[in-house]
Order: sequence, then C-alpha cells, then structure tokens
Amino acid sequence: MTRPAIVWLRRDLRLADQAAFVAAAACGPVIPVYVLDDETPKHRMMGGASRWWLHHSLSALDADLRKRGSRLVLRRGVAADVLADLARETDAAAVHCLRHYEPWWRNAERALKAALPDGCALECHPGNYLMPPGSVTTGAGQPYKIYTPFWRALAQHMPPPKPVPAPDALDGPKAWPKSDTLVDWKLLPTKPDWATGFGEEWTPGEAGAADRVEAFLDKAKHYEDRRNLPSIEGTSRLSPHLHFGEISPATVWHATMQAGGSVEVFLKELVWRDYAQNVIAQYPDYGKANARDAFDAFPWRDPADSEVKADVEAWQQGRTGYPLVDAGMRQLWATGWMHNRVRMVAASFLIKHLLVDWRVGEAWFWDTLVDADYGSNATNWQWTSGSGVDSNMFVRIMAPLTQSDKFDAAGYIRQWVPELADLSDKDIHDPEAAGKFVKGYPKKRIAHKQARERALAAHAKIKT
Ligand code: FAD
Repeated sequence: MTRPAIVWLRRDLRLADQAAFVAAAACGPVIPVYVLDDETPKHRMMGGASRWWLHHSLSALDADLRKRGSRLVLRRGVAADVLADLARETDAAAVHCLRHYEPWWRNAERALKAALPDGCALECHPGNYLMPPGSVTTGAGQPYKIYTPFWRALAQHMPPPKPVPAPDALDGPKAWPKSDTLVDWKLLPTKPDWATGFGEEWTPGEAGAADRVEAFLDKAKHYEDRRNLPSIEGTSRLSPHLHFGEISPATVWHATMQAGGSVEVFLKELVWRDYAQNVIAQYPDYGKANARDAFDAFPWRDPADSEVKADVEAWQQGRTGYPLVDAGMRQLWATGWMHNRVRMVAASFLIKHLLVDWRVGEAWFWDTLVDADYGSNATNWQWTSGSGVDSNMFVRIMAPLTQSDKFDAAGYIRQWVPELADLSDKDIHDPEAAGKFVKGYPKKRIAHKQARERALAAHAKIKT
C-alpha cells in the first residue's frame, strides 16, 4: 500500500482551495492532523476567544472530513515533536502544510524539517494569502514597508488563481492513528461562560465562512459608503474565518469580483491582511518591539500605578465615559469582535487619552478577539500608536465624541450601552456635555482637551 501523507493543519482549517490537501491527496492516503501546541508559541498561545473559535472550527472540519471518508486526528504537545513521532508511527512519506509566518510557526517548520525521519519530507505550500508574504518586492528586490506601494505592486499580480474546490472524498490510512478527544482539550469557557453571546453571532467552520461571503455579496457594492458606520452591518465580518483559514483569500477575492459594482475599496482592505503578514515576515518581533526606536523612550504612564490600572480596567470593561469607546469594548467582550472604525477609536483612546503603552491594548485584543491575529493586531496597534514602520500617527489623536457623531454611531451605542438608550441621537455621543446624568453610566475618565494636551506633551519628549 502507498505510504500515507500527513496534512498538518494550523490556521488553514478548510478543505477547499487548500494546497496541502491537494498535494497530499495526489500521493495517496491522507492523515489530517491538528496539534494543540501551547508550548511553541510560549506567551503567544491562543487567547480565550480564539480557543472558543478553534473548538467549533475543529469540530466542523472533522464533520466535513467524515463526510468524505476521512477524519481529523487531534494531538497535543510541541508540534514538531508530535508530528515527527506521528510520521514514524504511520510511516508517512511526507508532511504537507500551508506556510505560516508567525515567528513561532517559522521556528516550528524549521524544527519539524530537522526532526522528521529519513524518507519523510516537509512540504510547505502557499495559500493563506493572496501572494506569499515577502514575494511582493520593490524594483530593488526589497519587501515593502508602506501599505500603498505594497497594494499597488500586489494588484499587478491580481486576480489570484481560481480557487480549487474541496475534494469529494479522501483516502485514509489502513489503520487510523489514535486521536485526543476535542472536549478533553477544554477549549471552551465554563465558569464563567463568558462566550454565550459568541454562538449567536458566529458559525465557525468552512460552511459558516461560505455563508458569510454569500451574505456579504449584496452589501459589497455599498461597502465604500457603509464600512465606517458601526450602526450598520456594512462590512463582511469575515475576519475570524479568514484568520482561521476557513476560507481562502483567493475565494473571497473571486466571489467579491463577481458581485459586481465598485469593490476595489473592499479588496484594498483585504490586502491589509497580506500587508500585515508582509510586515511580520520582515519584523518577527513586531508584536512586542516598537519599529521606531524613539518610542522605546516614550513616557507611558506606569502600568503598576493604581490609577493607571483603574483606567485600563475601565477601558476593558467599557466604562470610560466615552460612549463610542464603551460600546466597542462591550461589543468585543460580548461577541469577540469589534467594528474596525471603533477599533481605531478605542485603540487611539487607550494609547493617547489614557497614555498607556500600545502593548497593553494589543494583549487585551489578543485574548478577547475571535480574529486575534499576530500580524494584523500588531500592525494595527503600531499603526495607531505611530511606533510602526509606516507613518507616525501618534499626533493624529482621534476625538471619540466627534467620531461618534460623524459616523452616526447612535444606534450602535444604544445596542451596546443600553443605559444610554433613551438619550436622543444628538445627546448620546456625549451625555456629560449635554448635561444628561444617566444613572450607572460613568463620567469621563479624562476630558478630551486635557488628554490631548497631555499626549502631545509626552510625544514632544521623544521627538527631541
Ligand atoms: P472587512 O471590512 O469586511 O474587511 C475584509 C477583510 O479584510 C477582513 O476580514 C480582514 O481580514 C481584512 N482587513 C480589513 N481591514 C484590515 C486591517 N486594518 N488590517 C488587517 N486586515 C484587515 N484584524 C484582524 O483580522 N485581526 C486582528 O487581530 C486585528 N486587530 C486589530 C487591532 C486594531 C487596533 C485595529 C484598528 C484593527 C485590527 N484589525 C484586526 C483590522 C480590522 O479591524 C479587522 O480586520 C476588521 O474589523 C474585520 O472586520 P470585517 O471582516 O468585517 O472586515
């Protein structure tokens, strides 16, 4: 009998347009494996919200595989060691995977290559991005640092290849290797179960991702006008599906193009995801190190100080006294997701109004977002703080009250900050200024003007 091939799954939990499955199935029997590895990523192990998603996504993938005569093998431990052992146990001829760019996965790919038994090769394929990160380069052969020229160069290579459909059937090995049981991994929260709202919002898995795309196609032509309005569901909400690889970006690209209308603005957003990977491929420490050295001397407030701790807690709990920020932070807690415009405002608020190091916010998002992504999260936090490789945005201090009014956030605030629901569209953005005392709703942690002046003064210290 032909020796089997292992498909090592990570953030590529799909059967359609999945090059690792295509390559493995072309050689013979396939053993799909997911390794729960909390050791290789160290402090970057998945956060709570991601673990909720992972549980449901793995369960959906196993069901999809079983319909095709296959199944998902679950193992736990250091991925490189677990896979090398499994390759010996099953006499696998190869391990196929999609290449990942988080620094710990790059290390794991190197370690696995070295650990595999003779006669078993590691084959890493592209497919989780529109173009392999690092492959879009300047005329001088250098990777891009800034988004706009990156987009222009990448667009020259578009459209991406047409997606490959999921296989109808997959051959399995003569005897299946032993598997852990998903429930034993305890990925879901219990006491307390803070994820009760997640299930109402999301359907993890490949079918859920396909439904999201389908639902978005009608909205795609209005994307440009509506994407910044948090009160309307004007964006695709594909981010967790894309993050976990339940749908390929090429599939999203082609589906959106077919929707017709002006979809370029949406495609440009999709390319931010590629850009973020392109950044971490160049700067593996981007999630913890300022790209601009000057920011190492930034006079952030001391996180150990009790007043700062109280400010951070108020931000996390959506009790800052700024309704738009609070609505966003509560949406995040309840659903594991936040509207992009509100993410920008909430991040800017923590960094500039509260003068707290961007890494504190990045860590909170890492734990609470269902789409928490090393590249996208770090790139966006560093972009907001101005410490990143792109333009210095620190001095662009977003005014949460003006943003709330400008982007018509009244409905959004009513949904997520119900104690303000009875206020008029005019007063709801800033109840304090309108002289409306609302029982149970806090006063502003700091006035906007005072915060702005404090932030600019702090920034001036590093400029000189
Ligand atoms: P759509 O507007 O429908 O966009 C389609 C897809 O394009 C998204 O699903 C996403 O994959 C990609 N995309 C859009 N905008 C961005 C962007 N700015 N950066 C990277 N990719 C983008 N996105 C994540 O996927 N994971 C994160 O951890 C993450 N952290 C963020 C932190 C901050 C402080 C900010 C300001 C933004 C962050 N984003 C992150 C980007 C963005 O907010 C989300 O991708 C977007 O809100 C997801 O909603 P959507 O799927 O409806 O997006």
